[in-house]
Amino acid sequence: MPELPEVEVCRRGIAPELEGEVVRAIVQRAAKLRQPIPGELRELLPGCRIVAVRRRGKYLLIDCRRAGVEGTLIIHLGMSGNLRFVPADLPPEKHDHFDLVLPGQTLRFADPRRFGVVLWQPGAPATVEQHPLLAILGIEPLADEFTGDWLHAALARRHGPVKPVLMDSHMVVGIGNIYAAESLFRAGISPLRAASRISRLRCASLVDAIRATLSDAIAAGGSSIRDYVHSDGGAGCFQIQAGVYDRAGEPCLRCGGAIRQIRQGGRSTYYCPACQR
Ligand SMILES: [Zn+2]
Repeated sequence: MPELPEVEVCRRGIAPELEGEVVRAIVQRAAKLRQPIPGELRELLPGCRIVAVRRRGKYLLIDCRRAGVEGTLIIHLGMSGNLRFVPADLPPEKHDHFDLVLPGQTLRFADPRRFGVVLWQPGAPATVEQHPLLAILGIEPLADEFTGDWLHAALARRHGPVKPVLMDSHMVVGIGNIYAAESLFRAGISPLRAASRISRLRCASLVDAIRATLSDAIAAGGSSIRDYVHSDGGAGCFQIQAGVYDRAGEPCLRCGGAIRQIRQGGRSTYYCPACQR
């Protein structure tokens, strides 16, 4: 499943080729993915200039504008979706549900499992935050506002162990299972520690660890941006250098002790009981 770093790399890959372009046509081959695709896109989007390509959580936001029309195309890749540029005359395959036709090339959205979304929010770019899917999202982990003090205050109000709390997208977006485990390892914090009992200082380390873990993953994908949006490969997850994730029983890279695997909130958690307190 594409995580925040994959979506950010996708954004960086498509933005330079979309921004400033004028949409020629929309081709819609599926009536609905996770939600119905608005039929009015076929009338609204042609002639629109693409003003910006942004990201909020795992949603790609494509701001569009022409005389009488202003709004944001919201795309979520779901479990298995991908966006790639193809020649306009390339015949679609079975799971190619939506095309944004530009001069010279087409941005094609494929989604075999149909958990993605293609939606439209009318209005100025900032109004997209009011869309029900986006209004419930927590803070961006790479934004300046995400600080140790902010996290300390947020965790103080929460019950239970820190790892499931970190993965709650209503608080912070984009910290999936892998990134939660790796960030806690980097920060030396046990995934079992009560969220409300982590000091301000350790929250600052955790924020640094989360930013570093996500940034490393984005950098790992960044080197393949061109392949990513121009090949017909899937959205595949990046290989990050895992310290603990999926390494049950293997030696800790820091202390040599065995990595432990437990279940938390229905998900596997990996950690080093010696290095993480
Ligand atoms: Zn260790």
